[in-house]
Order: sequence, then structure tokens, then C-alpha cells
Amino acid sequence: MEKNKINLLIVDDEAQFLHSIGRSLEMRDFKVLTAARGDEALELARIEEVDIALVDLKMPGMDGQQTLEALKKEHPWMEIVILTGHGTIDSAAACTRSGAYAYLQKPCEFDQLLQVLADAYKRKVMNKEEIDEQRMNELLEISLSPSPREILTRLREMDKQAEKV
Ligand SMILES: [Mg+2]
Repeated sequence: MEKNKINLLIVDDEAQFLHSIGRSLEMRDFKVLTAARGDEALELARIEEVDIALVDLKMPGMDGQQTLEALKKEHPWMEIVILTGHGTIDSAAACTRSGAYAYLQKPCEFDQLLQVLADAYKRKVMNKEEIDEQRMNELLEISLSPSPREILTRLREMDKQAEKV
């Protein structure tokens, strides 16, 4: 991980847009990863560190909402911003229900995008702290159990949960 850089995954099927926005954000100190499809984004997020994702809505294969849901499921603390040229109130509501941090329309002011991404990152940091704290509390509680067998069983359960995160 590079210090002081936000690891941003951009997912969009328009190659030119992906390239230009990626470069602009790299110049603003984001560490940018790009994917042209939802499934590609999922694979990348499994092997690279991703703090936040900026996801197009209309893409062949998995659409933006499906990509958002799959990313959230595997990385609960990750924050995801939807950026679409085809925004509707219905899809904005659906994406919000699925856990999108924000829903922006193309074309979007670059400064506004920067602000939203910075806010999403702050939220991600808080999510991570909350999840870590929760885990610490669980560990503490488990360690107080009088039965060694129960301690083992519960630690194994936690391990399984941690794999999902
Ligand atoms: Mg598209």
C-alpha cells in the first residue's frame, strides 16, 4: 500500500472515459485501478487493496448495481460511488438500498467528484475501524469463556467470517 494515497477502483465499459478519468484522478493522488467489466472488478478487488470504487451503471454482463452488491458482499467496509450517464430516480433509489455511498450523473463536475470520493474514503476508514473494534470485542468476550472447547469453536467461526471480509 502506498501511503497517503486512496486506492480507487474505477469500473466503466467506456475505454476512453476510463482512461481519461483515471489519469485525472491519478494526478490528484489517487492510486487508480481500472476494470472494464464488473467481474473483472471483483477479481481485481480480491487481489489488490481497494478503498473505494467508482462504478458505471450500464455495462455489458454484470451491471453497476450487481457489481456494487457483489463488491459490498465481499468487502463490507468498501464504499462505492455510482457514476452514470443514464441516471433515474428508481435506479438511484435501488443503488442506495444496495449500499451505494453516492449516485452521481455524468457529466459530473470534477471538483464535486473529488469531494464525494474524499468523503467516501473517510466513511470507509470509519467502517474499517468499526469492524475491527467489533472483532476485538468478540475476541475479548470469547477469551472470557470458561470452556476451552467453546473458545476454539467460536474462534473458528470468527475465522470463517474474517475470510469474507
Ligand atoms: Mg457504460
